[in-house]
Amino acid sequence: MYDYDLLVVGSANADLVISVERRPDAGETVLGSDLAVHPGGKGGNQAVAAARLGARTALLARVGDDAYGRLLLDSQRAAGVDTVGVLVGGAPTGVALITVDPSGDNSIVVSLGANGRLAPTDVRAAGSLFHASRVVSTQLEIPLETVVEVVRNLAPESRFVLNPSPPRPLPQEVLAACDPLIVNEHEARVILGESRVGERPEDWARILLAKGPRSVVVTLGAEGALVADADGVVRVPAVRVAAVDTTGAGDAFTAALAWRLGAGATLAEAAGYAARVGAVAVTRRGAQESFPTAGEVDAL
Ligand code: ADP
Repeated sequence: MYDYDLLVVGSANADLVISVERRPDAGETVLGSDLAVHPGGKGGNQAVAAARLGARTALLARVGDDAYGRLLLDSQRAAGVDTVGVLVGGAPTGVALITVDPSGDNSIVVSLGANGRLAPTDVRAAGSLFHASRVVSTQLEIPLETVVEVVRNLAPESRFVLNPSPPRPLPQEVLAACDPLIVNEHEARVILGESRVGERPEDWARILLAKGPRSVVVTLGAEGALVADADGVVRVPAVRVAAVDTTGAGDAFTAALAWRLGAGATLAEAAGYAARVGAVAVTRRGAQESFPTAGEVDAL
């Protein structure tokens, strides 16, 4: 009865990466490597991750009418994402300018560009996508008022998943719709703010849950994740792998979790599967390039 297992509403960026011996100081010019251009943005990453697993996935996003916008559309389509909801124009495509030094430290400048112009009216105009989607997932690389509008436009039976990244305080209306709210340790600290008591992630999960979400997932990198709902808090162990690059692991985890929840898995089951997807992703370089197929997850 649903056309899509997952609708991702979020950002699509071109990540422009140059390796340097030393990141430049103010007023300084340094020479770097050849430019590498990677499709990114948390929305684009989640959509690609879900589609590669086999989820019927649509993306609601905005890109510029420019070469990077076309590159992002092409990469989404190549992964099997339905791009009917990707709007074009209004501002240049969002980009992240990234310099990486030999120690792996980086400096990043983000231009939100078209991501910052994905407006509440765009959400209202996409009503048919919302009605056709079992699960809707979003992040915070688009305006917060747009996320609020997403919550207001959910179909009655569909499920809402939020990864509040980059983190900021959330209105009650958004918190109450989350099922689950998915945070890493940094995001948990920001959302909890002053109300954080102690250093135990189990406590953060409980306090976050008390703020209104129907369920909460705290991701803990190589330590796995915690899931919390009215039934209590359950720890989901990580799969042991040799990690080479954790970029995009959280996005792959979130997309996989959202898809499995829509397919009827319990929160703990879905998080267990998502941990396997995250584990494969960290064994490969890059973000979207690192996301596995369902067959690769089964083979882990
Ligand atoms: P984020 O990228 O948002 O910071 P995490 O680093 O917590 O998110 O990673 C998300 C999930 O990916 C984790 O909950 C875990 O299941 C998996 N994961 C991340 N890093 C590793 C790792 N080094 N080994 C195994 N699994 C990992």
